Amino acid sequence: CIFLKALHIQGFKSFADKLKLEFGAGMCVIVGPNGSGKSNVADAVRWVLGEQSVKSLRGSKMEDVIFSGSSARRPVGMAEVSLVFDNSAGTLPLDFQEVTITRRVYRDGESQYYINRSLCRLRDIQELFLDTGSGKEGFSIIGQGRIDEILNLKSDERRLLIEEVAGISKYRMRKKEALKK
Ligand code: ATP
Ligand code: MG
Repeated sequence: CIFLKALHIQGFKSFADKLKLEFGAGMCVIVGPNGSGKSNVADAVRWVLGEQSVKSLRGSKMEDVIFSGSSARRPVGMAEVSLVFDNSAGTLPLDFQEVTITRRVYRDGESQYYINRSLCRLRDIQELFLDTGSGKEGFSIIGQGRIDEILNLKSDERRLLIEEVAGISKYRMRKKEALKK
């Protein structure tokens, strides 16, 4: 099993300054008043894992994830978020005890992904997390309203969710790829 050890945020939504959050292996709770940025933290995690839907990130365009300024601070030009995973159990197929995933976006739309600080494609990140349950559609991030959504899934959608939990999504993806060739 893998767990999220740390989250580094800079310029993402309400977090103008560099912020490092560290998490232990057990349960971790984020509390704070309304509008203080709790959901923005969850958005940051999904964003790094490749979330492309601006609507689900509660914006209208991708630029909305970049800090847009406040009465005290000017807007910034770039948002960057890194997730540091503990991979000592070797769950992620990489020969590293610690795996850092980074996503960065600029106002002109230029965007980059990194695995352990090496430039990579979004696809590499999606593949890395497929069937670990930690991908952006994984079962480890349960957003507000998601429980109702799961209860109301159509049978084929429910099957996809069960396949991800069971760890067979990657074979479906590889089969699809192979059939394309
Ligand atoms: P609640 O308890 O109501 O769910 P929350 O702690 O989850 O609140 P968030 O939704 O995470 O709060 O944070 C909302 C705040 O983030 C708002 O004040 C909003 O203005 C700010 N925010 C969102 N996007 C940006 C941005 N691009 N630049 C600056 N601030 C932003
Ligand atoms: Mg919230």
